[in-house]
Amino acid sequence: MNRLETLPFVHPVTPHIYLACGPGKGRFPNCHGYLLLGDRTILIDSGIGTDRIRQIDQTMRIDGLIISHSHPDHILAWHGLRDRQLWLPAETPETVEDLILLGRRFVEGEANARYWTDVVRDRLGIQPLRQPNHRFDDGERLDFGAIQLRAIHAPGHLDDHYCFLETTSKTLFTTDVDFTGFGPWYGNPESDIRRFRESVMMLRSLAYDRVGTSHKRPMDRNAADRAFARYLEAFERQKMAVRALCATGMDLEAMIQASPFYHNRMADIKMQRIFESQMIRKNLELLLDEGGIVEKQGRFFILDE
Ligand SMILES: [Zn+2]
Repeated sequence: MNRLETLPFVHPVTPHIYLACGPGKGRFPNCHGYLLLGDRTILIDSGIGTDRIRQIDQTMRIDGLIISHSHPDHILAWHGLRDRQLWLPAETPETVEDLILLGRRFVEGEANARYWTDVVRDRLGIQPLRQPNHRFDDGERLDFGAIQLRAIHAPGHLDDHYCFLETTSKTLFTTDVDFTGFGPWYGNPESDIRRFRESVMMLRSLAYDRVGTSHKRPMDRNAADRAFARYLEAFERQKMAVRALCATGMDLEAMIQASPFYHNRMADIKMQRIFESQMIRKNLELLLDEGGIVEKQGRFFILDE
């Protein structure tokens, strides 16, 4: 038994890969991390929080941190490993080094962007990232001895969203292609539904034996096949939920209040509005583009078939 297994939140996935569960079942503002035990000990994403990072580090020193993309639940407690190696995606803009600029990247409008910055800094305790030691690119092989990690650019959720395939054990880390019941999340200006769906289909076609995501427990090939199918269906379900709101000729504001994605269950209603607005608008653009709906003076209607 590896001494990591003395920690109640750490579970073996393969002999060289461990799941480090985030608090609250790895839900936002946390995420699950994965520990890779090769010639060095590497952690994928720091959303398990400062306390759990410290407990792991005291049991087995963490040599490096790989960040899959710049969302707050994935960079959360990165500063606990500030003095270790830091790997970031090639596509991650330098705005991650300034929380005000990061807010402007993730949220439209100065007041709302500032609100986002205040929440992640004051409520979540997130610190701006530093310059990385290395930036990985699409297809790059990260050689950690017994761990052979291929970086896979999978944009759509975010421009700099990465997944990883550990080619020795055929373990696929799909990070925020996360298979949760919510379905795909694309609530930032740069998020893109079509690119997201293409990324999911590309991931599904890879040669994997098991899948680990950032917000669910790892699953074997068969369960992952089903999860991929459900996740792809969720794009359609989400679009149809927005289309249904067009049946009564709603405008965007009425749709945001109807809350087809969050069902008004997010504790922070202001943040809910910010994200819901983006997700509704992206679906409206898709529906308009496909010719399924029409817009008249700010209101949206289903086109008769
Ligand atoms: Zn994310």
